[in-house]
Amino acid sequence: MEISIQPILDKALAGERLTSKDASELLESRDFVRIGLAAHEMRMRKNPTDGVTYIIDRNINYTNVCNVVCTFCAFYRRPGKPDTYVHSIEEICKRIDETIGLGGTGILMQGGLHPDFNIEWYENLLSTLHAQYPKFQLHCFSPPEIHNISLISKLDYLTIMQRLKDAGLNSMPGGGGEILDDEVRARVSTKCNTQEWLDVMRAAHKVGLRSTATMMFGIGDHIEHRVRHLQRIRDVQDETGGFTAFIPWTFQRENTALGRKITKEPTGIDYLQMLAVSRLFLDNIDHIQASWLTQGLKLGQTALRFGADDMGSIMIEENVVSAAGADNEANERDLRYQIREAGFVPQQRDILYNHIERDGVADLDKSGSIKLKRLSVAFAD
Ligand code: SF4
Repeated sequence: MEISIQPILDKALAGERLTSKDASELLESRDFVRIGLAAHEMRMRKNPTDGVTYIIDRNINYTNVCNVVCTFCAFYRRPGKPDTYVHSIEEICKRIDETIGLGGTGILMQGGLHPDFNIEWYENLLSTLHAQYPKFQLHCFSPPEIHNISLISKLDYLTIMQRLKDAGLNSMPGGGGEILDDEVRARVSTKCNTQEWLDVMRAAHKVGLRSTATMMFGIGDHIEHRVRHLQRIRDVQDETGGFTAFIPWTFQRENTALGRKITKEPTGIDYLQMLAVSRLFLDNIDHIQASWLTQGLKLGQTALRFGADDMGSIMIEENVVSAAGADNEANERDLRYQIREAGFVPQQRDILYNHIERDGVADLDKSGSIKLKRLSVAFAD
């Protein structure tokens, strides 16, 4: 017989911190609806409004050249291969102009670990973009890229983060976290280890930059690894307070070497349960983001009742998880519709969760349904 998780949920709702053991028991339980209800209650206490935020930004992957191997990645190309690319600054500016035209407030820019790009390359990129778009938010470079700069330029993380901030960096994405436990990481990737990922984040927060934190699970990890990941994120947040949001999602296996080996994928229920437990365990992080891009719009919508208060980005461009099989898409109208139909009020935000008001946005809410992407009708004659 399954043990009752109600005492753990009562503890969380009474404002007491959950232990790793509590989180494990919640993740092992089959009572996921009850966990979701408690997570939603915590979400409403932390963000006491029926608003659900989203951002209009664009993922720009400035290069697919990558020096390391992650067996879960379908995006990278080894240096020297024929289908490698590096975007020019002009190409990046063109994408920024399009993003601004759609009401966007920033870019999420990250790329492979290029063997030749030193700190000056990144400073030049940021300062050129910042000079041209001073109010546009540059949310760039995940910890593995920073670690790569430190190897190439022989600089410590703190110096790198200060220099990138001075060049115009606004904040950092929490990519490359996957599972923050070397027992799992070392099996699937040769990029930065757990300690290095966390230390980059500490350095970013120390120089006054905010960042997100992520988790990609289903890469051969078990509950104990996921719980250690949550514990490590919560510990850094206790030290620095620099994380704006936590974003868990599941491994997208298409076209990846690891995908051929993994036989058991996380289900929609596993995703919702992980999201809800994240909300209950990470009592020091304000925002939990639904990953509709990887889970699909309908599960993304359901996530809003399992602790998430943010729908993420409308993603004008995305190349990394789509290379691995995530093919969901939504424009602003669709995303607002999904949020409204889940019983919430859609609200655009920027990268730092400041609300954005734009003329004409209310018109997007006039339609009563989302458009059909494809219409095929069979007529009987
Ligand atoms: S996930 Fe990032 S670091 Fe790993 S291979 Fe892909 S591009 Fe390179």
